[in-house]
Amino acid sequence: MSDQQTVRCNHCGKTVGYHFDPINHKKNLILTIVSFGLWLPIWLSSVFSPTKICNECKKPIWETK
Ligand SMILES: [Zn+2]
Repeated sequence: MSDQQTVRCNHCGKTVGYHFDPINHKKNLILTIVSFGLWLPIWLSSVFSPTKICNECKKPIWETK
């Protein structure tokens, strides 16, 4: 079994490996405070559905379903 998963990148136009960007919880906490909680849903969505980052072009991969 390989732990390297691949996905089709719509920037490169080919199947590439990907990784997830580490979430900066400190920055998100500050944004949540200064926006009076409006940032919280965005923070939570980045925690529960992290964006895949292409290993080739380093751009976020948006999967079309
Ligand atoms: Zn790419």
